[in-house]
Amino acid sequence: MKIQKTYHFYAAHRNKEAGEKCGRIHGHTYDVVCVFDLKMNGALTVLFSDIDAKVEPIIKEYDHYFLLEENDPLCPALDHLNEPYKAMPFATSAENMAIWLFNRIKRETGLNICRIELAETKSSNVIYEQ
Ligand SMILES: [Zn+2]
Repeated sequence: MKIQKTYHFYAAHRNKEAGEKCGRIHGHTYDVVCVFDLKMNGALTVLFSDIDAKVEPIIKEYDHYFLLEENDPLCPALDHLNEPYKAMPFATSAENMAIWLFNRIKRETGLNICRIELAETKSSNVIYEQ
C-alpha cells in the first residue's frame, strides 16, 4: 500500500551553481511530498499521525532557516554575527535537497519511503525514487 504525505517548510537559500538569478539570496515555500510503501497491518498500514511524528521533526529542522552550502563564504560572516543558518554539505539545489531529505527520512524513521517530490515553486518540482 502506498501512503502519501505532504509537508512544507519555508527557507532561504542561494545556489551559485544555478546562474545569476538563483545565486542571489531568495526564499521558497518548499512543498515536500513523501510516498511510503507500507505493509498492511489489519485494516491499515500505520497511522498518518505516526508518520507525521517521525517525519515532521526532520522537515522542521530546516523551517525558517537560511540554507547554505557549508563552504559558502557567507557562513563565516553569519557565524561572526551570531546569525543562525543551516550549513549543508552540498549546493542547495532542489535536487540535492530532495535526495538529502529522502535519505534522512529513510535512515532516521525506519519508514519505507520510496519516492519524494520537492517543489520550490508552484510549477516546478523534482522527483527522486528508489
Ligand atoms: Zn531557489
